[in-house]
Amino acid sequence: MQYHTATSFENAVDLAQAAQGTVRFLAGGTDVLVQLRGEFITPDVLIDIKQIPGAADIQCLEDGSWQIGAAVSGAQLDEHEALKAEWPGLVEAMNLIGSTQVQGRATLTGNLCNGSPAADSVPAMLAANASVAIIGPDGQRQVPVKDIPSGPGKTTLKSGEVIATVNLPAQSASGADAYLRFIPRTEMDIAVVGCAVSLELDGPQIAKARIAIGAVAPTVRSVESAADALIDSTLDDEALAALATAVREACDPINDKRGTIEYRTHVAGVLAQRAAKIAYHRARSKL
Ligand SMILES: Cc1cc2nc3c(=O)[nH]c(=O)nc-3n(C[C@H](O)[C@H](O)[C@H](O)COP(=O)(O)OP(=O)(O)OC[C@H]3O[C@@H](n4cnc5c(N)ncnc54)[C@H](O)[C@@H]3O)c2cc1C
Repeated sequence: MQYHTATSFENAVDLAQAAQGTVRFLAGGTDVLVQLRGEFITPDVLIDIKQIPGAADIQCLEDGSWQIGAAVSGAQLDEHEALKAEWPGLVEAMNLIGSTQVQGRATLTGNLCNGSPAADSVPAMLAANASVAIIGPDGQRQVPVKDIPSGPGKTTLKSGEVIATVNLPAQSASGADAYLRFIPRTEMDIAVVGCAVSLELDGPQIAKARIAIGAVAPTVRSVESAADALIDSTLDDEALAALATAVREACDPINDKRGTIEYRTHVAGVLAQRAAKIAYHRARSKL
């Protein structure tokens, strides 16, 4: 196996293009190194992107939007008070990942590119309407996060493409988000169901909403009908019931020992209601 330390994202792309065999980028390594140790995947070429200048930076731009470098760890996100105040749901989703040790390494981009339908930060990125800056052999492109997952363990990234940053829009003055997951244990487990909610208020009424669910379909998915169920409501019982129904209708889970189809589908509705209440409460407390 060859190991390279990329000096820039363009250099990472060149190294990937020149490589023979299986290529993996190394961000935190918390998926790659586990796969390597377990001999599930043995990369022929490993391209470390952590040393690229700026890759570990979190920046708030002039328009209030955020650029999070591909090598920024969950621990760094949690320590960034301004980001956490604006996008608490995204930060809490990332901080459900693993243990303190894993947190020091795991990244948003690694979580996204690993392609797990149960990835915790991905529903939160979808609900936040995040996009990624991709650098590849054909130059740079900006893609909504919702267009990256394409199936279990699969993404729409083309050969040799690397994500440089995750970009979050500016948070609205009346907006907030939340993420909840259900796991059978108290920690260190994979989501049986995950749900992220992002809301913007106009007075007490919900003016905009985005809902995303994880672990209940082959990919993390946005549920527009669930968002529609909340618009113009004050999150009353009727809106909450319509939200749960829409979320359950969007579920297409697997049946396994960690949760049956019926169980995952039921829990998805409950989690969506709880996450919506948290996001609503957070948004109202800003008014
Ligand atoms: C003990 C333990 C517990 C865990 N718990 C959870 C959990 O609760 N929830 C959860 O969602 N995950 C969990 N994980 C999985 C893992 O920690 C996360 O998926 C993490 O976010 C991966 O990030 P990373 O930077 O370590 O990725 P890496 O391992 O570095 O990379 C993962 C994949 O993404 C690709 N990649 C990385 N960066 C880029 C980039 N910039 N551009 C293109 N491709 C890229 C790599 O080629 C690789 O295929 C756990 C892992 C461990 C070991």
